Amino acid sequence: MNKLIATSQQPQSSGLRQFLSFFKANSLTHRVRLISGRYLTLRRIISWPLLLLCFLTPWFSWNDLPLVHFDLVAKQFRVGSVIFWPEDLMVLTWAMLAGAFGLFFVAMASGRLWCGFSCPQTVWTFLFIRLEELIEGSRHKRLKMDRTPWNAEKILRKSAKHFSWLSLSLWTGLTFIAYFYPLEAMANDLSQSDLAGMGLFWILFIAAMTYLNAGFLREQVCTHMCPYSRFQSVMSDKSTLVVQYDEPRNDCIDCQVCVHVCPTDMDIRDGMQLSCIACGACVDACDSIMEKINKPTGLIAFRPGEVTFNEALNLKQRPRLVGYAFAFVISVLLIGIEVSSRDIIQISLERDRNSLYRINANDEIENSFSLKFHNKTQQDMPIRLRIADNLYGFEISQPYFTIAAGQRQQFPLLISLALPDPDSHAQKLSNRTAIHIEVLSAEFDEPINDMNTSFFMPSVDEINPL
Ligand code: SF4
Ligand code: SF4
Repeated sequence: MNKLIATSQQPQSSGLRQFLSFFKANSLTHRVRLISGRYLTLRRIISWPLLLLCFLTPWFSWNDLPLVHFDLVAKQFRVGSVIFWPEDLMVLTWAMLAGAFGLFFVAMASGRLWCGFSCPQTVWTFLFIRLEELIEGSRHKRLKMDRTPWNAEKILRKSAKHFSWLSLSLWTGLTFIAYFYPLEAMANDLSQSDLAGMGLFWILFIAAMTYLNAGFLREQVCTHMCPYSRFQSVMSDKSTLVVQYDEPRNDCIDCQVCVHVCPTDMDIRDGMQLSCIACGACVDACDSIMEKINKPTGLIAFRPGEVTFNEALNLKQRPRLVGYAFAFVISVLLIGIEVSSRDIIQISLERDRNSLYRINANDEIENSFSLKFHNKTQQDMPIRLRIADNLYGFEISQPYFTIAAGQRQQFPLLISLALPDPDSHAQKLSNRTAIHIEVLSAEFDEPINDMNTSFFMPSVDEINPL
């Protein structure tokens, strides 16, 4: 028994120790060197607009409402004046398909370009490295400072670096949650000491994850946690662009700069590996070295895997690539069609199940319904109901309604018909008559929806004795 306890406890403590030593050994906070070059410029061109979009969007509003809002309480997703509801599932389906096919296309055309240039893990990691370099200096200085004993400067610089990382992480957490819990509401709740507990929890959780991922785990996320690298090989073909080292050129001076700049700590000279995120840092690094030693650049470069550039550009040989592009375009078109053909007012009419009809005090035949509206817009919507081709003189008890913005509402509705005299037009009615009701914008008198129902009444034989 003692043995069992001993063996069950031992792996736990050694596991924790192993995890801590793994974490320490793999936190590359002092190793990665930033290098300028065309791929760094390209990453900035791609990532800065995305970062600005991500951080600034929650600060904008539209018609006094947040520009983009995932409203979990009201079960709606709002972008500008367009609101998506759970019943708009098809839009989400096409959007997910478009995203998937777009990613497949990029992955097949250019390998892990998404990872190296747009993935939040990479973008935030490079932001953290940039802050680190600004505060602690170049890689060389950081290594030197790490070796020196703790002194005032080292404490100050390390504290400043972690403070900047934590501030950026907190801002990231705040920004992410602001898409669900708008900043204005958050500020109001905060001023009244009523900040939602869950909101605070998620801000701190996202901040902690950002600090841990971009500050310490970095490439471990790409190599061990991200599933994308696992199925990337399935989506590539022999023409897919990959970062390659041109070994036969024999120009390498073994300066190691390509390794120092690699965020995933790999040596591309050992051949293509799963952990390469195609960030191009080693390409920039080696090109700068080749320029210094007056050799042609391109010792490390993005090249098609097994064919020449000209062969890679021959689309006839790449039906899967063309197929992904085609599927992406179709999915985007279907999103557009689905969004533009959505009813802005959803309306349904349900018959009162207790009685098919009744004769009211005014000697009218009456059918009662329950009218359900769903206003999918952000404006109150005054509407008018009208019975189309109303030959027999049906009347709607209340033809005018105002449906509150973004609301589902229900109203009772009566449709009535004066008891027909034997000579009237209405005598020709059967005891079940189809009715077509138009829903018009009360403001512009334009049709915005319609619905069909039936009007029940007694048979003519039953009416005449009445
Ligand atoms: S090997 Fe080069 S391209 Fe791949 S991750 Fe490292 S630096 Fe980026
Ligand atoms: S940067 Fe270029 S020259 Fe330097 S080690 Fe890497 S491949 Fe060799």
